[in-house]
Amino acid sequence: MSVRDLDADVIVVGAGNAAACAAIAARNGGASVLMLEAAPQSERGGNSTYTAGAMRYAFNGVEDVLSLVPDINEDTLAKTDFGTYTEEQFFDDMFRVTQFRTDPDLCELLVKRSLSTMQWMRKQGVRFQTSHGRQAYNVNGRFQFWGGLSVEVWGGGPGLVDMLLASAEKKGVKIAYETAAVSLLRDNDGIHGVRVRCNGREHDLHCKAVVLACGGFESNAEMRARYLGPNWDLAKVRGTRFNTGAGITMALSAGAMPFGHWSGAHAVGWDQNAPAFGDLAVGDAFQKHSYPFGIMINARGERFVDEGADFRNYTYAKYGREVLAQPGQFAWQVFDAKVQHLLRDEYRIRQITKVSSDTLEGLAEKMEGVDAAGFLKTVAQFNAAVRQDVAFNPNVKDGRAAETIVPRKSNWANTIDTGPYEAYAVTCGVTFTFGGLKVGQDAQVQDQAGRPIPGLFAAGELVGGLFYHNYPGGTGLTSGAVFGKIAGENAAIEAIANKSRSAA
Ligand SMILES: Cc1cc2nc3c(=O)[nH]c(=O)nc-3n(C[C@H](O)[C@H](O)[C@H](O)COP(=O)(O)OP(=O)(O)OC[C@H]3O[C@@H](n4cnc5c(N)ncnc54)[C@H](O)[C@@H]3O)c2cc1C
Repeated sequence: MSVRDLDADVIVVGAGNAAACAAIAARNGGASVLMLEAAPQSERGGNSTYTAGAMRYAFNGVEDVLSLVPDINEDTLAKTDFGTYTEEQFFDDMFRVTQFRTDPDLCELLVKRSLSTMQWMRKQGVRFQTSHGRQAYNVNGRFQFWGGLSVEVWGGGPGLVDMLLASAEKKGVKIAYETAAVSLLRDNDGIHGVRVRCNGREHDLHCKAVVLACGGFESNAEMRARYLGPNWDLAKVRGTRFNTGAGITMALSAGAMPFGHWSGAHAVGWDQNAPAFGDLAVGDAFQKHSYPFGIMINARGERFVDEGADFRNYTYAKYGREVLAQPGQFAWQVFDAKVQHLLRDEYRIRQITKVSSDTLEGLAEKMEGVDAAGFLKTVAQFNAAVRQDVAFNPNVKDGRAAETIVPRKSNWANTIDTGPYEAYAVTCGVTFTFGGLKVGQDAQVQDQAGRPIPGLFAAGELVGGLFYHNYPGGTGLTSGAVFGKIAGENAAIEAIANKSRSAA
């Protein structure tokens, strides 16, 4: 297939979750569709491929969960309390974690279309399963979901991308690999195509509408330093190396309005010795998300965050920034024997920076870069501050605090006094950037005056305005799917209308 033969009604830039949902929706709407993927086929699917496939959606009870996972067996159903995660709860979480900055119109679409979009994905061939392993603890024989996340995609991120792209191709969508969009073709009437680079040569591809779904600028060290600030160029990238901000840059050149939290990003605690970009063989397992059950200390041996401020679904995405701000940009997570059974699977992988010792003094010596005396003092102060009158319960915000110290630990505080002890070294791993383009409710990109740019739509990470400061876990895939579907549907409508006008 020569790149020159690839003109289509709708060109979708990217081949991750948002792009695939857009391509399927545009094809369902009757348009011919071409997807452009900068990566080779073996690395296709962007950050979506690196995920565990967790998706946040509003549900009113087990019936809604069953509409996505109809085959939960009776025994599991009897032992599980899924609870509810209503639209109100989803709104509350979005408002709270973004410090009330999320764009209300975009947020409303995200929340209100979350369940129906996932039901639509199921119709397009995506399979879901319950998230018992990561989102519910077994307490006295019952599983209780605690963090608004009840399902994940079967096969995680790789499964999601495979299922969506197989569905798209079955419907006749073409995918051009190793074909990067470099600019938009435009005139006074709007966007009419994409200039691409393929095999070192540039070509113009023509279409009636373009959907940009090619990620944020997290993989571009220069843009990270420019917009996120000093030392962000030193962060590790958790996922794809291909999200270099090209979609945002080309849209801004075409007059699009920058929108959202340009100095903000989703960033987590990530193994200190992980590679510069994600490794698909390891996926998301370089992350270290069980810090609510221990303490995190820096090079001075001091704590620097409230590890138990909230369930980790609501703190992990902002704590990478806190780690980056520490001397040397690293921290150690410390756990004693009492809580080690609660550590997530990612603490048991081979590629890990871990030390252990039967004594705290021995551990202090082994944690590279840490002031041992400072660490031992911190642990003594912490242990003295732990409330012993409140029972520990990982399924609820238990209020078992370490109160008389700074920073306090608000929940799940246990003394660190029982060997063997373990410590894990983390640095900052950036997931995706929050700033991007302004879109309307039809996912059409707006210009600097707030007018829609004819023929230009956007979805996924490069949509600005949803996330500020922080993010509720599992929302990225849902946002990509919701806005991808809307973008694809409207791009098809516009493309077909344009075609009829040109034919008349
Ligand atoms: C390790 C990890 C774990 C995560 N876990 C979860 C989770 O469990 N749940 C959740 O909701 N979110 C999770 N996220 C966040 C989630 O991955 C993103 O929010 C979401 O996948 C973004 O989807 P997208 O389609 O916008 O971008 P992507 O999936 O990154 O897709 C962007 C696509 O654009 C392509 N591209 C880039 N530039 C160009 C160009 N110039 N021309 C052509 N193609 C281009 C890329 O190659 C890629 O195919 C995780 C992220 C990471 C890194």
